[in-house]
Amino acid sequence: MPINQVSRYNYKHQFETIKDKLFLEIYSSILEGDYILTEALKKFENNFARYIGSNHTIGVNSGTDALYLALLSLKIGKGDEVITVANTFHATVLAIILTGAKPILVDCDLDNYHMIPQQVESSISSNTKALLVVHLYGKVVNMKPLIDISTKYNIPIVEDACQAIGAKWKGIRAGNIGLIGCFSFHPSKNLAAAGDAGGITTNNSELSNYLCKLRHFGQIKQNEHLILGLNSKLDSLQALILDYKLSLIDKWNSQRSKIANKYKASLNHLPIDFQDEGKPYEHVYHLFLIRTKRRSELLQYLRNYGIDAVVRYPVPIHFQESFKDFIQGKPGQFPNTESLSKETLCLPIRPDMSDIEIEYICTNIIRFFNYKY
Ligand SMILES: *Cc1c(COP(=O)(O)O)cnc(C)c1O
Repeated sequence: MPINQVSRYNYKHQFETIKDKLFLEIYSSILEGDYILTEALKKFENNFARYIGSNHTIGVNSGTDALYLALLSLKIGKGDEVITVANTFHATVLAIILTGAKPILVDCDLDNYHMIPQQVESSISSNTKALLVVHLYGKVVNMKPLIDISTKYNIPIVEDACQAIGAKWKGIRAGNIGLIGCFSFHPSKNLAAAGDAGGITTNNSELSNYLCKLRHFGQIKQNEHLILGLNSKLDSLQALILDYKLSLIDKWNSQRSKIANKYKASLNHLPIDFQDEGKPYEHVYHLFLIRTKRRSELLQYLRNYGIDAVVRYPVPIHFQESFKDFIQGKPGQFPNTESLSKETLCLPIRPDMSDIEIEYICTNIIRFFNYKY
C-alpha cells in the first residue's frame, strides 16, 4: 500500500518486545508504593554507568537539571564563565545562566556542526570554569584539541551528551570523556522515558557523592541538609522503563545509522550537505540533518507530503529573547551557526523506519529539486 505520511516517533514500537514484563513490573511497583530512590533506580543507574563505561550514574529529573547540577557540583556561579557553542539547544545555555555564571559562546564548524576549538581557546579568561561541549545531533565532538585545551589551562570539560547516548569517539562513549557527562531521557531522545528524565555520569566518586546530595535537597539523611540542593531525582517508574530500553539501545542506534546511510546514498547527488561522519566517530543519529539554501521551501514541500520534517535550531542562542540580558548577540557574530539555522532541516529518523518510508521521503526530496530548480 502506498503511504502518504512519515512520523518522527513510534513509541509503540519501542515497547513492542518488552511491554509484557515491563508493564507487570510497573503495575506491582505502583501498588507496592515504593517510589523514591528505589532499588529499581539504583539498578538502572548501575546499568547505565556500565553501558557508558563510567563509574557512576546519578539519575535526575531532566537533561536540563543534569547540566545545571553538573555545573553546580563544580561550584560554578556568579562571576564565573562557561564556554559553549552558539549552535545548540536552549537548555545548554539556560543551565549556565541558572548557576549565575556567564555563558561565553563560540561558533560552530560547517563540516561537523560542532564548536570550533580555536575559538574555545581564544575565549578563555581567568574566569573560565568549564568547557561545556555539546555532542550535537548524535555525534561526539572532536575531543583531542579540547582535551589539550582543558589540560593546558586546567579547566574541566562537561559534556552535554543529551543527544549522543551510545555515540563513540575513538571507542569511548559520550559522557565518559570529560569530567562529567549529562544525558536527557526526554521522549524525543534515542533512549526515551515516558516523560521527563535525565542522568549524570562521572568517574569521580567525590563528585558523584556531591551530586547525590545536590539532587536530594542537599541532604545526607532526613532533616540534615548540608548544602543548597534541588529536588531532582530520576523517577523510579521511569528508571524501570529506561532499564528495559537500555538493553535495546545499541540495536536501535545501529538501525538509525543504517537509515542515515540509506538517506545519504539516495540524496548524495543533490545540492545538499550532511554533517560529516566516519572514523574515529560512531554517530548515533539522534537527528539526521540535511543542509540546503532552499530549506524553507523544502520544509514546506515535505510537510505538504505528510513528512514530519523539523528545524533544529531555527533561532541561534545569541538571538533568543530569554537570553537578551545575558548575551548581547549581533547579527553576523556567529556566521556559521546563523547559516545552519537558516539552511538545515531534520528528516524523520526512527529505528523502526521501513524502506518504503525512507524511499517515500527521498523520492519527494528528489522531486523537489528536479522540478523546482
Ligand atoms: C534535550 C536536550 C537538553 C535538555 O534535556 P531535557 O531532558 O529536555 O531537559 C539539553 N541539551 C541538549 C543538547 C538537548 O538536546
